[in-house]
Amino acid sequence: MSGGSYWIADFHCDTLFQIMRHGGELHKRPEGHLDVERLTAAGVDLQVFAIYAPVKSARGPLHEALLMAETFWQAVDRKLLQPVLWSEDLCADASGVRGLLSLEGADPLHGDVELLRLFFRLGVRVMGLTWNGSNALADGVDVAEGGRGLTELGRCIVKEMNRLGMLVDVSHLSERSFWDVISVCEGPVIASHSNARAICSHRRNLSDAQLRAVAASGGVVGLNFYPPFLASAGEAGLADILRHAEHMLSVMGRGHVGLGSDFDGVNRLPEGITGVESLPILGGAMEKAFGVEVTEEIMGGSFVNLLVSVLPKKPSDQ
Ligand SMILES: [Zn+2]
Repeated sequence: MSGGSYWIADFHCDTLFQIMRHGGELHKRPEGHLDVERLTAAGVDLQVFAIYAPVKSARGPLHEALLMAETFWQAVDRKLLQPVLWSEDLCADASGVRGLLSLEGADPLHGDVELLRLFFRLGVRVMGLTWNGSNALADGVDVAEGGRGLTELGRCIVKEMNRLGMLVDVSHLSERSFWDVISVCEGPVIASHSNARAICSHRRNLSDAQLRAVAASGGVVGLNFYPPFLASAGEAGLADILRHAEHMLSVMGRGHVGLGSDFDGVNRLPEGITGVESLPILGGAMEKAFGVEVTEEIMGGSFVNLLVSVLPKKPSDQ
């Protein structure tokens, strides 16, 4: 960890997408929900940066995905972020904020497993197969009951992700795709930014059976701060995040709940949260509700422990 008393790790933000669309600097962008200056000030140790490039992307998904990866790597060159590629990268001391790349939807692969391997080389260690719609790999939550679920190509991609040491992210998948992934995937499955459907009945949230399946795989679910995923009606606040956390803990047990804020991917936030600077306040509220040990796990420990066990070891120089 870089500063505070425990790890703070957030498993989902769409900041690279905002910069690609609207410009701005990863270092300082007061108009957004997070930037490196504020991550540092808030004591965040690890931020996962999603590459979101759906099939409808203006310049095509591959082009836009590569631009977002380049923004990430330029920040690494400027020593703004320390990249997490191998499990050792989480064990050594870090001088600043660690960053990890994820792919939110596999549209930039254009169905080609060779491009999956290329994105791995570019640093991508987490991937969701599709966003809300369908693609060549799987159906998303917009597909009504039934559907195709995981396609044959989707199965191949999941198996190759397992071989490479990448985490499969089931946030955004349809129920059928979800259960197909659970049956095909070896090792832990994560839902980087999803809440509990028993608390807020939204199609983007997970049923108790789904939460149990993620926990049984050894995976983690990241709490999403988007108000419509937190509360079915009215405004949402910090108390709603705690309610989801409490329910997930009761269903999944300890060590399987984390943070997946969705910062810069949503147009509003719960009362009491203005951006990444609010994470220490959330941590304080969690300590009151759950005690220090459980708070440490939710605020970062659960996801970091998982990454240490799943990420490949750094290849040794020949
Ligand atoms: Zn999302």
